[in-house]
Amino acid sequence: MEQNNCIFCKIIKGEIPSSTLYEDEDFKIIMDIAPASRGHAVMLSKKHFENLMELDEETASKALLVAKKVAKVMMEELKCDGLNILQNNGEAAGQTVFHYHIHLIPRYHKDQVNINWPAGKYENGEAAGIAAQIAARF
Ligand code: AMP
Ligand code: ZN
Repeated sequence: MEQNNCIFCKIIKGEIPSSTLYEDEDFKIIMDIAPASRGHAVMLSKKHFENLMELDEETASKALLVAKKVAKVMMEELKCDGLNILQNNGEAAGQTVFHYHIHLIPRYHKDQVNINWPAGKYENGEAAGIAAQIAARF
């Protein structure tokens, strides 16, 4: 299931060192090498999937349970004031490692982390049209 030249597959195989804070049969959670904040971690699926859309159902159904469990402990141990769960899919969305992962970013009052966007605006009926277009697929 691993992919050649995938840095996260290499970390999972132990070929590249990492600091692991949680591991089970499906996921490994490591300290991010370039942290946004103190304690920033990334949760890697053990199987190689490129992104969220490619995940198998079993991994998808377990991922948020593990993220929730570990986020709770991180909040307690790091005594952070908040925590962002961030998950990038595709280069346009900021994904740089194309192996499914979830960021766990502890937040501290007055930290320098910037997860922000300018508030947009829809024309009349535009939001309803978009919702209807997507809803028609289900
Ligand atoms: P993304 O931009 O969502 O694809 O996130 C990839 C993340 O992986 C970035 O935050 C990187 O800092 C992190 N990263 C890349 N290489 C390593 C590594 N060897 N060990 C730990 N984290 C890494
Ligand atoms: Zn991989």
